[in-house]
Amino acid sequence: MKLSLYLGTYKRVKVFIHWTFSILLLWIVISNLRANTPIEDILWTILFVFALFFCVILHEFGHVLAAQKYGINTKDITLLPIGGLARLEKLPEDPKQELWVAIAGPLVNIGIFFVLSVILTITGYNLENLDTLQINGNTMLLYLASANLILALFNMLPAFPMDGGRVLRALLAIKLPRTKATQIAGSIGQLMAVAFVFYGLFYNPILILIGIFIFLGAAAEVSHTQQASFLKNYKVKDAMMLKFQILAFDAPLSKATEKLLDSQATHFVVVKDDVAVGTLSKDQIIKGLKEGGEQIKIEAVADFNPYKIETEEELEQAWKNMMAKQRKVAFVIENGHFLGIVDQENISEFILIKSALSK
Ligand SMILES: [Zn+2]
Repeated sequence: MKLSLYLGTYKRVKVFIHWTFSILLLWIVISNLRANTPIEDILWTILFVFALFFCVILHEFGHVLAAQKYGINTKDITLLPIGGLARLEKLPEDPKQELWVAIAGPLVNIGIFFVLSVILTITGYNLENLDTLQINGNTMLLYLASANLILALFNMLPAFPMDGGRVLRALLAIKLPRTKATQIAGSIGQLMAVAFVFYGLFYNPILILIGIFIFLGAAAEVSHTQQASFLKNYKVKDAMMLKFQILAFDAPLSKATEKLLDSQATHFVVVKDDVAVGTLSKDQIIKGLKEGGEQIKIEAVADFNPYKIETEEELEQAWKNMMAKQRKVAFVIENGHFLGIVDQENISEFILIKSALSK
């Protein structure tokens, strides 16, 4: 998150603003200066952009708070020039829950639109006063109200994985299997993404970015849902590795580099008095080498708080939990005893095998 500026935390969710946002502001200032817009109007425009992106944060919190109701946490929200991005720990699988989480964002913008409309009506705003298209003190609220309406409508386009696309997937998933529903929503999403890019080429470069974003996002989610479906009906014990490389906790890191070069393993089990106590990954080895050289002890870099899963746990759920917690390896436990390990590479191999067999 080095490239993002931290704004604050609300309901345990950190909010960041991405550095590319400054390019957007710079572009607004430069293009307006070139058009000889008065400085005062440029300042109003910048104020408008900040107000609009504040509404985008509120939109994201719509998703975040709806997800929290279903026990799903969010890591953070990042504001990008093309919109907000809330990183939910996982997505609800129950179609009704997904529907609510997806629709909560656009509903926030509709809510803001109505509040601003009421204010505009009470203050007696007259559309005929709108003699110029420039954003200034008189037109600010009107622009902000319209922008919120446009935001809500745009997000409700069925371009999966945008909000409307998620609503579509949820509706399809009420009747169809989730994989099928995702495939259909994904194809429609990619079709719309191509349309965005084409339209963007002629009218609005930001739409090109959004189109590419949607196209790749749809592909990633369709493949992710498919992969998860291959893990269905299997337990952790089906994918567990019983053969693994071990390293003594007090051995020098050079032992680990030897084994790393010698084998295919990317994760090692660290033992103390014949008991498995932790894991050591390729990344941790490299980090240790950089910081302390080959002679530092393995215990200085190993992870002694390994993620633990049970042999009888559903493989699909265990995999998702590992992804959500960003753990690449886990101890497999049976009746309180260490039995073996599972890492993301061998789950990927498991998926490859099952998908090959299913064809
Ligand atoms: Zn949204």
